[in-house]
Amino acid sequence: MDDPLTPSSPVDPLERTLHTARALVLADLASGEVAAADVVSMVEDSVVQRRWWVEQWPEGAAYVAGLVAQDVQDALLESHGRWPLCPVCGSGDPHALEVEPELGPDPHWVCHKAGVKVASVGSLRAATGGASTS
Ligand SMILES: [Zn+2]
Repeated sequence: MDDPLTPSSPVDPLERTLHTARALVLADLASGEVAAADVVSMVEDSVVQRRWWVEQWPEGAAYVAGLVAQDVQDALLESHGRWPLCPVCGSGDPHALEVEPELGPDPHWVCHKAGVKVASVGSLRAATGGASTS
C-alpha cells in the first residue's frame, strides 16, 4: 500500500488531486451521516471514472472535486434520496444543494431556492451545524 501523505516520496499530482477530491466528498458525506460502506464505494467508483477523465484532460484537475461530488449526488439520488439536504431553508419542501460551478475550480454547494452559497465542497460540516463558528 502506498501512502500519499509520506513527505519523502514524490506524489503524482494526479494522485494528489484524486485523493483530495475523495477526501472532500467523504467529509461532506460524513457531515450528513451517510458515509456508509456502499456510499464510500460510490465515491470510489466516481474517483476511478474521474481518474480516466483527468488523464485525458489534465487541465481539468481543478474540476475533479466538484465532479466527484456531483457523481456521488447522482448515485445517492437513486439509492438513498436527495443529498445533501439544504441546511439553510428552515421551512418548505426539503431540497438538495447543488454544486457550482458544475465544471470549474473551487466548487461549492449552493441553494438555488435561497440563492446562497452554503459551503465549499468539503466544508459542508461547518454549514450543517457540525461545528460552531460563532
Ligand atoms: Zn435551500
